[in-house]
Amino acid sequence: MAIDPNFEESREVVEEHEGHRVWGPVEEPETLGIHGTHVAVDFDICLEDGACLEDCPVDVFEWVETPGHPESERKADPANESQCIDCMLCVDVCPVDAIDVDPGRENRI
Ligand code: SF4
Repeated sequence: MAIDPNFEESREVVEEHEGHRVWGPVEEPETLGIHGTHVAVDFDICLEDGACLEDCPVDVFEWVETPGHPESERKADPANESQCIDCMLCVDVCPVDAIDVDPGRENRI
């Protein structure tokens, strides 16, 4: 299952984390929602592959620890999504399609 690119319509913002939005539902530790808006990562799909961290030319992603999550115990957090240059590398390299990048989405809180 890939990230829903229409999450702005299907989900609601439930919290903020490190300067970006979190789109619910969130029920820790099993359900963590989507982090980010311009650069959105579905934490419930992310399996700690790490290609996005390695390949992003402007270091948008940082690891965040998520102990107890069924898919992986670390997630690629779009901590610096405002730096994104829309190269789409992360979208291409993610093996589970957990990332969606859309410069048209509002990323400011
Ligand atoms: S689209 Fe490019 S610049 Fe933006 S987060 Fe992904 S890899 Fe980084």
